[in-house]
Amino acid sequence: MNVATGLDFAIQEDQQDPLRHFRNRFVIEDSELIYLDGNSLGRLPKATVELAHQVIEQQWGHGLIRSWQERWLDLPVKLGRKIAQLIGASPEEVLVADSTSVNLFKLALATMQAIPERHTIITDDLNFPSDIYVLQSTTNLVGNDSHLEILQSSDGASVLLSQLDQTIAGDTALVSLCHTAFKSGFTYDLPAVSLMANQRGSWTLWDVSHSVGVIPLDLAQTKADLAVGCTYKFLNGGPGSPAFLYISKRRQNQIQNPISGWFGTDDPFAFDLHYQPAKGIQRFLSGTPFIVSAALMEPGIDLVLEAGIERIRLKSIQQTQYVIDLFDHLLASRGYQLLTPRTSERRGSQITVRHCAAKQIVQKLHHKFQIITDFRQPDLIRLGIAPLYTSYEELWRCVQAMHEVI
Ligand SMILES: *Cc1c(COP(=O)(O)O)cnc(C)c1O
Repeated sequence: MNVATGLDFAIQEDQQDPLRHFRNRFVIEDSELIYLDGNSLGRLPKATVELAHQVIEQQWGHGLIRSWQERWLDLPVKLGRKIAQLIGASPEEVLVADSTSVNLFKLALATMQAIPERHTIITDDLNFPSDIYVLQSTTNLVGNDSHLEILQSSDGASVLLSQLDQTIAGDTALVSLCHTAFKSGFTYDLPAVSLMANQRGSWTLWDVSHSVGVIPLDLAQTKADLAVGCTYKFLNGGPGSPAFLYISKRRQNQIQNPISGWFGTDDPFAFDLHYQPAKGIQRFLSGTPFIVSAALMEPGIDLVLEAGIERIRLKSIQQTQYVIDLFDHLLASRGYQLLTPRTSERRGSQITVRHCAAKQIVQKLHHKFQIITDFRQPDLIRLGIAPLYTSYEELWRCVQAMHEVI
């Protein structure tokens, strides 16, 4: 056996890993369980458990209505400022609100209303289904010849820049894509696509749900106009934690929130019958923010900030490469196919393989080996790699089990 494919190598990598201590910051009750689904629902930070008591007992139980002024009113903007650091945005360009789907709807509809002379939204078939439904209902609502064009991936894994180059045209209002595709982990060259769209007068709306927290983004430096993202995956915000939206400064005064609600005004408690939107990004709030779940997402974001997004990305690239090396050695000959791109710049923090018995394999991994991976219809197995708590040893054990199980 090659040195690099043995268990010793994995253990040694873990010992030398500068981020190894972060694993202890998470609740890991079952040390036998290997969890490779952090790209669907991140683990629970220990600090969140303590904070939950404080939020419920102190802020709600003791503070009651006073907590709105003391803490809660500012929360969506305060958390937005922290996320801004992870995506290369200015503090006033990011807001925590609603779910990813709802934010996508608000920003897509706002764009179509801002540039009514253009009628097309472009996306691709690698996109998250919910995003496609939302974009479809957006064009349906706008009516007036507007329509959604869905680019087809030729290999089910990636879309070429040349395909976008041939499609983005004078009628394109919006290019709305997932930065990292949820199935294959394929990751777009975000600056290149944003620039291409910008040069043709189209806006871009990125869904960064699968890249925030594992890939550093530089949205303000690129020509990206808008973005949305999820916080319960690599940001470990907890089930149903609210999402965020990004609106670049140059677009902020060009679009209106299509769901104009009281929390989008300067002073919701003034109860003015005339809607007067807040000046800043707060006007993209609609109703009452989900305070408890928003408050509980802060420790997860803080852990990413503390570890440093560049160091997380470095470990993610090394760990995904490690799984690819093990794949070549142990899985390729067992009927598995690699779907995730081999080029590190083009992949997120997951490895996806195809196998005709994928469903049974995922079940076996769980019940026989205590390894949680993720099955996606019809034949995909996803291994989510969360550098803050995934160890090399866990990856080694998973690939060994995938080899054995056939
Ligand atoms: C996880 C995810 C979502 C989730 O949307 P919700 O509205 O929070 O349910 C949306 N888009 C993408 C790309 C995702 O990965």
